[in-house]
Amino acid sequence: MDTLTACHECDLLVPIQPLPLGCKARCPRCGYTLYENTPHNVEKNLAICLSAIILFIPAISLPLLSMRMLGQSQHDTVLAGIYVLFTHDLWWTALLISFCSIIAPFVKLILLTYVLIGITRKKTRFRHFLAFRGYQKLDTWSMLEVYMLGILVSMIKLLELAELHFGLGLACFIGLLLAVILVRVTLNKHQVWSLLEQYRVN
Ligand SMILES: [Zn+2]
Repeated sequence: MDTLTACHECDLLVPIQPLPLGCKARCPRCGYTLYENTPHNVEKNLAICLSAIILFIPAISLPLLSMRMLGQSQHDTVLAGIYVLFTHDLWWTALLISFCSIIAPFVKLILLTYVLIGITRKKTRFRHFLAFRGYQKLDTWSMLEVYMLGILVSMIKLLELAELHFGLGLACFIGLLLAVILVRVTLNKHQVWSLLEQYRVN
C-alpha cells in the first residue's frame, strides 16, 4: 500500500510518489505544493546546522546586553540569567528555560547534523532514523524565538531606566535564531525520510 500524505489546504489524501530532482508534487484538487525534491537541500541545511552549532556557545556565554545604571554596570548572558533563577530558588522556571532555550535547540541541531552527515555520506543506519524522529519530537520544545522576544521586551522596558549596550552575544544569538528558522523553513522532511530509506545499509 502507498504511503499517503494529506493536502494542508483541502485535506485530500494523495499517495506519495518518488519525484525526479527539482520537481514538485501538487495537490490534484487545489494545486497546493505537497512536497518537492529540492536539489542540494541536504548540503545547504548541513552548512546552516554547522553554522548554528558554531554560534551556539558564544550566543549563550557572551554578554547579550551591558547595562549601566546609577554608576554600576552589569553584563547579562543567557547562562548568567539561568544561574540567577537557580539562586533565587526558581528551580522549575530555570529548568524550563534551560531546556527550551539551550538543551532542546542544541540537541536538535546535533541530531539533524548527524542525520544530514549520514545522508551526504550515502550510508544511513537505524540510529539515523531514530535521530531524525528525535529531532521532530524536540521541535515543539525549542523556543529560541520566545527567548528573543523576552530580550526585546526587557530592552524596551530598560531603555528609559538605564544605558544599554548590545553585546557580541546578542549578534551571535540573532545569527543562531536566523539559522534555526532557516533550517525549519527550508528543511524538506519528506526528502530526508526518502533519502534515509534510499541510503539505508542495515
Ligand atoms: Zn489540496
